[in-house]
Amino acid sequence: MQSLTNRSKSVSNKKMSFAEKIYLPAVFGGMWITLKHFFKKKNTVSYPEETRPMSAIYRGQHVLKRDEQGRERCTACGLCAVSCPAEAITMIASERTKGEENLYREEKYASTYEINMLRCIFCGLCEEACPKEAIFLTDRIVDAHFGRDEFIFGKDKLVEPIDQSIDVSKRQIWDYQNK
Ligand code: SF4
Ligand code: SF4
Repeated sequence: MQSLTNRSKSVSNKKMSFAEKIYLPAVFGGMWITLKHFFKKKNTVSYPEETRPMSAIYRGQHVLKRDEQGRERCTACGLCAVSCPAEAITMIASERTKGEENLYREEKYASTYEINMLRCIFCGLCEEACPKEAIFLTDRIVDAHFGRDEFIFGKDKLVEPIDQSIDVSKRQIWDYQNK
C-alpha cells in the first residue's frame, strides 16, 4: 500500500546486542549530555537576587501617582475602568470633605481603587485613558502570591508612597521613532 507521507519508517526486528540489553551505553550517553550542560552558560537567573535588564517600554505593576504637593491625582472618573479590556479595575468614588484638600487634588476621589492583577493584561490602556495623569504602569514586576485574593491590589499597594516618588518617565520619554 502506498504511504500518504514520506515520514513512515520501517520497524526493525533486529535482535538487541548485549550492550543494548544492559542499557549501559544509553545511560552513559544520557549522563554525558547532562554533564555537558553543567559547563554551559546558564540561561536562567536567580530571581529575585538577580534581575534581567528590562526593556525601556516594559509595562509592569501600576502606580497611582501623587501631585507635587503629595495629593492623590485620581479623581475617580472611571475612564480607566471603562477602557480596560479585561475589566480588571473597580473603584468607589467619594466626595472630598473640608480639611481633606491636602490629601486629594480634586473634589472627588477614589476611596476604594482595586486592580485584579490576575485579569490585567498590562496593555496600558488605563494609562492612556486617564485625563489626570494619575495612573501609570511601571517597570516593577508584580509579586508572586499563593492566594488569588492577594492579587487584588488596593490603594495600599497602588498609591505612590508619600515619601518615595516612583519614576515613570523612562517609558514616557521613549522615542518610538528613533529607537
Ligand atoms: S493595563 Fe490594561 S488590562 Fe491592566 S488594568 Fe490597565 S487597561 Fe486593564
Ligand atoms: S486613574 Fe485616572 S482615569 Fe482612572 S479613575 Fe482615576 S483619574 Fe480617572
